[in-house]
Amino acid sequence: MVSVRAVHKVFGHGHDAVHVLKGVDLDVARGEVTVILGPSGSGKSTLLRCINELEEITGGSVVVGGDLMGYRKDANGTLHRLHPKAVAKQRSRIGMVFQRFHLFPHMTALENIMEAPVQVRGLSKRAAKKRAMELIERVGLSDRMDHYPAQLSGGQQQRVAIARALAMDPELMLFDEPTSALDPELVGEVLSVMQDLARSGMTMIVVTHEIGFAREVADHVVFMDDGVIVESGPPSAVLDDPQEQRTQDFLAHVL
Ligand code: ATP
Ligand code: MG
Repeated sequence: MVSVRAVHKVFGHGHDAVHVLKGVDLDVARGEVTVILGPSGSGKSTLLRCINELEEITGGSVVVGGDLMGYRKDANGTLHRLHPKAVAKQRSRIGMVFQRFHLFPHMTALENIMEAPVQVRGLSKRAAKKRAMELIERVGLSDRMDHYPAQLSGGQQQRVAIARALAMDPELMLFDEPTSALDPELVGEVLSVMQDLARSGMTMIVVTHEIGFAREVADHVVFMDDGVIVESGPPSAVLDDPQEQRTQDFLAHVL
């Protein structure tokens, strides 16, 4: 489903260049959940942003659902950058949930979920509303659908953000520390929605330091440091029996 090959990301040029991703390889099979762990600044967010083309990669390739992201290969094998419209279309198949919820403040929960299907997909309001109501039920917020973001708790806002991403019927969902801005008592409700989503067969890449979630839900755990994947494997291997010193040191801090 996802195949990241030798991906490099350099920000800036010349003396100011910062080499953030230094050859990342990552595979995620359809229906699988991969959790990415790693210290601050290791490149986790940048990797997610490169997968969904919020950032253009400096080298390597990203394939999602069989599609080479951002480029078209001609008969000679030469790569051509895709038109921004084509890139936008590719991106619309990938849902992303951020640490901060980024809901539209002047729209109700339901309107937030309906927005992209109506504006981007041209769905009728009626069809979008029907779908939004199913999704809001799925995240357990049917009784809050007419509330504005400011009237919702952080956990509720994040659940709306998840429903909003799902409204575009993504093939892949990316989560960047979705619970790290929440009060501790609100973390569980968001993780539980994510766990249900994983059970339903969604392909997911989740940056989180919630080790319990990684243990229970992840098929694979990846440990990143300094722009490379240091270690990866099933949760039991990476979390309970890490082979690399850097992984051991990191886990000693977060566990
Ligand atoms: P955190 O756990 O703090 O979220 P992270 O692993 O997500 O960290 P990134 O946000 O991917 O790390 O950042 C990795 C490195 O890339 C950092 O050194 C950061 O300063 C740098 N970086 C990220 N975005 C840019 C940018 N637009 N321009 C320049 N440098 C950047
Ligand atoms: Mg980050």
